[in-house]
Amino acid sequence: MRFCTSCGADLKLARPEGDDRERHVCSACGLVHYRNPKIVVGAVCRWGYRILLCRRAIEPRAGYWTIPAGYLEFGESAEEGARREAWEEARAEIEIDGLLAVYSVAEMGQIQLLFRARLLNPNVSPGIESLDVRLVDWADVPWNDLAFPTVEWVLRRSLETHGTSGPLVPVFNSANR
Ligand SMILES: [Zn+2]
Repeated sequence: MRFCTSCGADLKLARPEGDDRERHVCSACGLVHYRNPKIVVGAVCRWGYRILLCRRAIEPRAGYWTIPAGYLEFGESAEEGARREAWEEARAEIEIDGLLAVYSVAEMGQIQLLFRARLLNPNVSPGIESLDVRLVDWADVPWNDLAFPTVEWVLRRSLETHGTSGPLVPVFNSANR
């Protein structure tokens, strides 16, 4: 961060009064710019005993396999974000079952909310961020060529719960409470 989002002046590192750490503070208007973790949403998408994997076309980790996942947009619910990512990366239409896992990746500034989902049909094809998409048998998961540790963790977690219909963590949305 270099410039104030409000007035465009230079930012400096300073500890606001009463705060316990340095922040990016505007040298002109004094606005404090907080850095907070981003939310990543994604889904393990199942078609029978196969799962949807995408081969990344973009860095980081281009060429490696992942599940559809990406940053949540403002105004989206977590499930909407996961459905959008599945469509964008694999042209996959999915129904969310529930939350499989929450991963806190502090060094990346990320909280990942990863769902289990069911494909509504097996018609998948690469979106612009994917080189290839496949419905892969559990026995054929490329464990050594996964893009990120959280992808491995959530696939193992999904495998553990595969024969069950739950218990997954319910997710509540402000829009439908
Ligand atoms: Zn400013």
